[in-house]
Amino acid sequence: MEYRRLGSAGLKVSALSFGSWVTFGSQLDVGKAAACMRAARDAGVNFFDTAEVYNAGTAEEIMGRVIKDAGWKRSDLVISTKIYWGGRGPNDTGLSRKHLFEGTHAALKRLQLDYVDLLFCHRPDLHTPIEETVAAMTDLVRQGKAFYWGTSEWSAAQIVTAAAIARREHLIPPQMEQPEYNMFRRDRVEKEYLPLYGSLGLGTTIWSPLASGVLSGKYQDGIPKNSRATLKGYEWLRGNFDGPEAKEKIAKTAALAPIATELGMTLAQLAIAWCLKNPHVSTVITGASEVEQVKENMQALPFAAKLGPEVLARIEAVLKNKPEAEDDWRD
Ligand code: NDP
Repeated sequence: MEYRRLGSAGLKVSALSFGSWVTFGSQLDVGKAAACMRAARDAGVNFFDTAEVYNAGTAEEIMGRVIKDAGWKRSDLVISTKIYWGGRGPNDTGLSRKHLFEGTHAALKRLQLDYVDLLFCHRPDLHTPIEETVAAMTDLVRQGKAFYWGTSEWSAAQIVTAAAIARREHLIPPQMEQPEYNMFRRDRVEKEYLPLYGSLGLGTTIWSPLASGVLSGKYQDGIPKNSRATLKGYEWLRGNFDGPEAKEKIAKTAALAPIATELGMTLAQLAIAWCLKNPHVSTVITGASEVEQVKENMQALPFAAKLGPEVLARIEAVLKNKPEAEDDWRD
């Protein structure tokens, strides 16, 4: 495994990490989640991601049980959770001081931990002043409930505002962002956040490297049984797998297959290795509903070295549907 600094922080996260969205509590019970986390750990993963909203707290409970039962040394692990959607009441959601404190305390209880390493504001909250959120996150860090705080899917402008408030008020600025990043969703990481990596030392813990599984190539012949696309309660994800936009992505994935085959890797490994090639990515949070997927995905790391400029240009041409790649951060 390779360990990367979380932006300018001293903390080191495994370049490949493992998350619990969708899977923990629906496809994976404690036993299966333990097998997946163990496989990830065996591959050198130190960073595990969850959120208060994942299966309404069940994902945190499962992750906490697995960590406790495994007897892993706490200092060997980097654990994150994310606060925003904690329930149905008017004060159970958002980034108010009240919900950030109550949500974090409840999450720690479910995780059976005294602290998380990373604590994220899961989305921006337009109904809470950023001042209130920055002050509350600073207090949570100063109380030892988390070592670093960050954002997820905030705009660059919102992150810059939070950092400026922190500087002005002697508070703690956000250290990391958790954005979606994959071959089909690139603009934020490659363009919008670009000035922030240097100026703020922003790290990134990127999510959905396989675009929810599409980039593994498994949707070429329709929707496979037991896949994420078939799960009750996740019908809202359907647009990722079905419809005109999905069709285009599935076709592009098929066009990438010869490149993967030529390099001796699977499509999933190609897609994950591609994310790893971006130097602004601190860690790629992978997801899996089977141990075999974890094992396959973890092997993407050595393959990243095979993605030289020529291969990247070929991938780019497929993604942009044109013969020559241009306007690329990799140039
Ligand atoms: P991916 O895009 O990598 O999708 C993972 C899913 O793809 C798996 O659950 C599995 O689904 C399928 N899959 C994985 N590996 C393979 C393989 N080798 N071959 C075939 N299929 C495969 O990541 P996620 O969308 O799961 O996101 C990863 C993590 O990022 C989450 O667990 C979460 O921690 C975080 N996240 C954060 C968000 C945020 O808002 N901050 C939002 C979403 C995720 P299947 O069951 O269909 O086989």
